[in-house]
Amino acid sequence: MDMPIAALVRACLSQRCPSCEKGALFDGLLKIRPVCSECGFELAKSDTGDGPAVFLIFIIGFLFLPIVIYVEFHADRPGWLSLLIWGPPIVGLAIILLRPVKALSVALAFHTRRNP
Ligand SMILES: [Zn+2]
Repeated sequence: MDMPIAALVRACLSQRCPSCEKGALFDGLLKIRPVCSECGFELAKSDTGDGPAVFLIFIIGFLFLPIVIYVEFHADRPGWLSLLIWGPPIVGLAIILLRPVKALSVALAFHTRRNP
């Protein structure tokens, strides 16, 4: 299969409709618009639900868990302080990456499915 990598990257960065690349993809923080306001494409058909969140949980978990375990075994501090140190960057990274990853998953669904 020939995957349009440039279109996927544009969709990920611009967070626009994968069909026309003009209409807004999101209605709010993470809700996909049911229909594109520019071309009328039914975006709800390409909504991947919680798939991007699960993907991010695995990726961020695999990136941070070894570092957190190593640091926490060598640090002498209370658990609540560790939560304050590690919690905001991990949750913040997940929130920052969730929209682009969701836009990428919608674009992948659009380009790999037959759309009328
Ligand atoms: Zn559109």
